[in-house]
Amino acid sequence: MRCAKLYYPGQIELVEVPEPEIQSDEDVKIRVNYGALNADDYNVYIGKQGQTYCDYGLFHEISGEIVQLGAYSARTGLQVGDHVAASPFIPCGSCPACRAGKWNLCREMFSNGLLAEYVSLNHRRLFRIPQEITPQQGSLTWLVLTCVRCMERLSVLPGQRILILGAGSSGQILVQLARRKLPSILAVSEPLQSKRTLAVLNGADVVIDSTSENLMSKALDITDGAGFDIIIDAAGDILALQNSIALLERGGKLMIFASYDFTSYLNLNLADLYWKECVVMGVYGATNSPYTVSDTKILSQLSLDSLIGKVFPLSDLKQAFEAYGSRLYTRILVQP
Ligand SMILES: [Zn+2]
Repeated sequence: MRCAKLYYPGQIELVEVPEPEIQSDEDVKIRVNYGALNADDYNVYIGKQGQTYCDYGLFHEISGEIVQLGAYSARTGLQVGDHVAASPFIPCGSCPACRAGKWNLCREMFSNGLLAEYVSLNHRRLFRIPQEITPQQGSLTWLVLTCVRCMERLSVLPGQRILILGAGSSGQILVQLARRKLPSILAVSEPLQSKRTLAVLNGADVVIDSTSENLMSKALDITDGAGFDIIIDAAGDILALQNSIALLERGGKLMIFASYDFTSYLNLNLADLYWKECVVMGVYGATNSPYTVSDTKILSQLSLDSLIGKVFPLSDLKQAFEAYGSRLYTRILVQP
């Protein structure tokens, strides 16, 4: 089968490798339908993520179809033919974080690239996709679950004022989820007109053109000078983030949703955080609980098709990364 490997930043090769075998009774073999390119994949591709390359396997968000089950995994209710998505995480299972159910915070976290025609992995890493969800939509499962966890961590209350920076695929899902929290104002800042239009369709009350409008004055205008109770950074733009912190209302929360590399720093006015009792937090993927194998029904309640920006065959992987880097599209999918 064909498999994509990254031997050096920007240098992808498609290699022929044997199909993976089921290694234990807990494993499941999957024919991969789609891989969704995320910021971590891109940062590794361009050499910004302090990665050991050699034969690095690409992509961690996939959807696929079960073709073979180990003896134990067959007893979990999974069946050959089921459509599934996978968690990118391989937690150790025994560290304090894992024992507390916070697998995303595992001290010994490992992950492997899943962009191949077939993969074999532990059944605990799978999420069964609802029947009405297409394989393309299903490849957004991990992204959706991470967005759900972001909202869960923010504990949004009805009537709060929310600002989302960036209207890419994650920003669009966050808009849909935030809308359901009954905010008094749901604003989105985004440089691209097409993404601002989509954000309105997904539930934004106000969209701000971050290239031509003054975020500070417009934000204060639409919040009657109070600022926002919640600001979610889904843009990954440090300058935009820096300019938005002053817009936090007293007691406000700033959520770092976007992925940053290890050279990224932000200037924070500590007196401002202190006097306003603001909270800065992050979200790193979803956890296994409470999102069990059978609990992905939220996918059916979201508008997902508009979040699929472009689909590339595996042979055009380089073009897929270039399309991601252009920031013109929402999610980029690759079909093995
Ligand atoms: Zn662990």
